Amino acid sequence: MKKRILILVACAFALFFAALLVNTQRVAKTDDYIGSMVPIERFDSAASHLSQAIQIKTISFGDTLPIDTAEFIRFRQFMESTYPLMHSRLERKAFNEFSYVFTWKGKDSSLAPYVLMAHVDVVPVEAVAESKWSHPSFSGKIINDTIWGRGAVDDKASAIGIMEAVEHLLQANYTPERTIYLCFGHDEEIAGRRGAAIYSKWFEENGIRPVLVLDEGGMIDTEKFKDVNRPVAVIGTGEKGFTNIDLTVEIPGGHSSQPNKETAIDILNKAIGKVRQKQMPALMTGPVNELLLRTGTEQSFLTKVAMSNMWLFEKAIIKQMEKNNQTNAMVHTTLVPTIVRSGIKDNVIPSIAKATFNSRILPGQTSDDVLNFVKKAVNDDRVIITKQKISLFEASATTPSDHPEYKKIESTVQQLVPNVLVSPYLLIGATDSRYFRGFSDAVLNFTPMQNVKGYHGIDERIGVEDLNRMITFYKKIITSGK
Ligand SMILES: [Zn+2]
Repeated sequence: MKKRILILVACAFALFFAALLVNTQRVAKTDDYIGSMVPIERFDSAASHLSQAIQIKTISFGDTLPIDTAEFIRFRQFMESTYPLMHSRLERKAFNEFSYVFTWKGKDSSLAPYVLMAHVDVVPVEAVAESKWSHPSFSGKIINDTIWGRGAVDDKASAIGIMEAVEHLLQANYTPERTIYLCFGHDEEIAGRRGAAIYSKWFEENGIRPVLVLDEGGMIDTEKFKDVNRPVAVIGTGEKGFTNIDLTVEIPGGHSSQPNKETAIDILNKAIGKVRQKQMPALMTGPVNELLLRTGTEQSFLTKVAMSNMWLFEKAIIKQMEKNNQTNAMVHTTLVPTIVRSGIKDNVIPSIAKATFNSRILPGQTSDDVLNFVKKAVNDDRVIITKQKISLFEASATTPSDHPEYKKIESTVQQLVPNVLVSPYLLIGATDSRYFRGFSDAVLNFTPMQNVKGYHGIDERIGVEDLNRMITFYKKIITSGK
């Protein structure tokens, strides 16, 4: 009897492991590209054009701070003089003065159009950081095939990449099959409310439903995916949402020489601590799952088995991801206090204390889930908890990776980058393209730059090779036919 049980148990184990292995074999197949490669063209004046673009200080200082309109006017003049055919043959529409949509009419009006997007504003360089730059931050210096300066990566490289591609094709008298819209926003770095939010409405109101919207986001990397011995290109197929939750405590203050047991600041402080103690429930979304699977199958045998059998190892994988801030943000809706306000004088106990939590919401969870989580965590009637309306953006629907437009971007990248592994991923930041997600079924975030450095930080720069690859890429997308 004992022997029979043992045999049964052994058989069960064997079956279990066989199932794991079969699954691993079945799932762990990355699409290796075997087609022909496309050479990267050289565009001689592109680097100097990007350099000039960097030197124009189109800075978004902050949501409530004014922009230097003279610089944005200079940028418009730069665009007009550098890309004359784009301006004479395409129709330009301006939105809030400095965001532009160009319409390049295609031959076949029955085909749904493409939207190629980039933004021309940049984040400021803090005064204390300026001295740490290897070259002045707005110099646009070109040294040894590298272009330096704020905006070199984010996102003037894309803007110049698109404009160069279009101008070159116009010089060759090219007309696209489908209509192509070029969108250049001027306030992406402060949420795009005056730019993309407005021009996307124009699309919607005119019944223009692009079949593809291509914006910044994913890139190519050979350093971050440690155990994958190939370049990895990630294409953003979904974006996290954005909401702010306010916590307010109002109780009488008084003189600081004879304080109450608990003040408004104390109560708020405790509430903040409670919210920070726990995270919202983890969630494995489609793009993250696919990224783990595709990169995991390139790694050790055990990783391969784990990634291919998510049904069994999901909890363990999530635990591992929670150890790093960046990967944690891929499996959790995050919540962090970013503004705390209270007090006006050192000897007055304030009667009001207020904190704002910024939250980035995973697809599959909502801003109401966030609100409820915070209310439950705080569990104190003295703390008024509300959701801000103005900055609210629910998480997007994700574009499936078997969508024909995803496949088109994937194969274009494979033709340009030898031995590349392409995967969908989830954007944990926010881009202008989110305004299109409601009415276009393929919104993808990708630019073919590799191992870029310094964006939003110090020593932002891009290689001339990257810029050439980007222009070649945009040309391929525009000329990809039906
Ligand atoms: Zn950007």
